Amino acid sequence: MNPRPKKIAVIGGGPAGAVCAERLARRDREVVVYEGRPGWDKPCAGGLTPALFDEHPWLLELDSKCNKVERATMTFPSGKLDMSLKRKLRIIDRRELNGFLQRRAQNAGALWREGFARRIEQHRDRIVVDGEKYDFVVGADGANSTVRRMVGRPLRREDWAIGVGLYVGETMEPRLVVRMLPDLAAYAWIFPALDRCSVGIMAPVGIATRHEMLKRVRGLANDYFSASAVDSAESFAALLPAVRGGLLFSAELVGERFALVGDAAGLCDPFSGEGIRWAVTSGSLAGRAIALGDTSLYARALDENILPELNASSRLVSRLMRRGPMMLAGVLAPRSGTLESTLSEFVSGSLAYEQLKRTFKRRAAKILRQALFNFYCVQR
Ligand SMILES: Cc1cc2nc3c(=O)[nH]c(=O)nc-3n(C[C@H](O)[C@H](O)[C@H](O)COP(=O)(O)OP(=O)(O)OC[C@H]3O[C@@H](n4cnc5c(N)ncnc54)[C@H](O)[C@@H]3O)c2cc1C
Repeated sequence: MNPRPKKIAVIGGGPAGAVCAERLARRDREVVVYEGRPGWDKPCAGGLTPALFDEHPWLLELDSKCNKVERATMTFPSGKLDMSLKRKLRIIDRRELNGFLQRRAQNAGALWREGFARRIEQHRDRIVVDGEKYDFVVGADGANSTVRRMVGRPLRREDWAIGVGLYVGETMEPRLVVRMLPDLAAYAWIFPALDRCSVGIMAPVGIATRHEMLKRVRGLANDYFSASAVDSAESFAALLPAVRGGLLFSAELVGERFALVGDAAGLCDPFSGEGIRWAVTSGSLAGRAIALGDTSLYARALDENILPELNASSRLVSRLMRRGPMMLAGVLAPRSGTLESTLSEFVSGSLAYEQLKRTFKRRAAKILRQALFNFYCVQR
């Protein structure tokens, strides 16, 4: 990419777009962020893993807005596990997170333009957004990205999941609730933020209707909240990328005059649905590379820091989100301290997918020994 772009359009002011715009504005680039839903309460469970804060310690400024969760209950079709988490998760209301990131970008000098970008055209020597000329465009416009379609790389239907749920206006003890649902190749969750809880299911598109999913969500919510709170809860539904089985390639995400970041790039963990970490990290890496005039730096950073982990998750998800592995986990986990501890590391995001297979192989014999021993003791 040559010369360095001076004027850049960022389509979408969510976490990926806001962080990218901030990085660009700090390097004196002229940045215009198009945001179609200012102040949007983006449907999200708001779970932030320790890895996000390790990579971006400046986000700790938000600590007082987060509920800190150090315990989790996991229910499998064959058993239940209560555990403490190896590292605490933080849960935030998305309006707080988005507002914070937007303010930072604006303070750095990024211009915010309210309204959807309708027409984005790619010409040989420029990008035109609704009639206005730019040197470069960043697609930060979420799972159903217009920029992604414009550059000819739309996500396939099987690479989307749908998240359906409720915001219940009651609080509960700071505990994560996860219920594995093998028939939907999915899990249901309760994530308690400071003043409301999100209860939801994320499942591959087409596996169940929204109505069926919402019914299951209500069933879970009724186990933890009052009937009136569940009845009056606001429902939500949104797409998220979940590349299951396929792989993500950096060459599809960066071009001469465009870069895709966050959900628009498909950078969301297909197993857990974690996307905020990857949105912030990709926004930051892309912003730096574009400002330096060398988008190959972004492609390389994707290959080194992001895609190996998401592609490892993609390879694992279809194998693990099935009845067999879920039944096995439900039988073994309550009887094996080693499996409990491995799950605790996994749920709190301290165990990378790339290490998961190796870790299980190394610990398998010990897990089986512990489970058999505990099973035998109970029988006697
Ligand atoms: C139900 C659900 C639960 C989730 N839970 C979690 C969780 O607990 N933890 C986690 O890490 N991740 C979670 N995620 C994923 C996470 O929400 C996303 O990965 C993250 O928001 C991606 O950020 P982004 O900036 O790429 O996209 P978004 O946050 O989707 O932002 C895109 C922005 O672009 C704007 N936009 C779109 N088109 C245009 C246009 N043409 N013009 C102008 N503006 C436009 C939108 O209004 C939006 O503000 C969840 C997702 C869902 C659906």
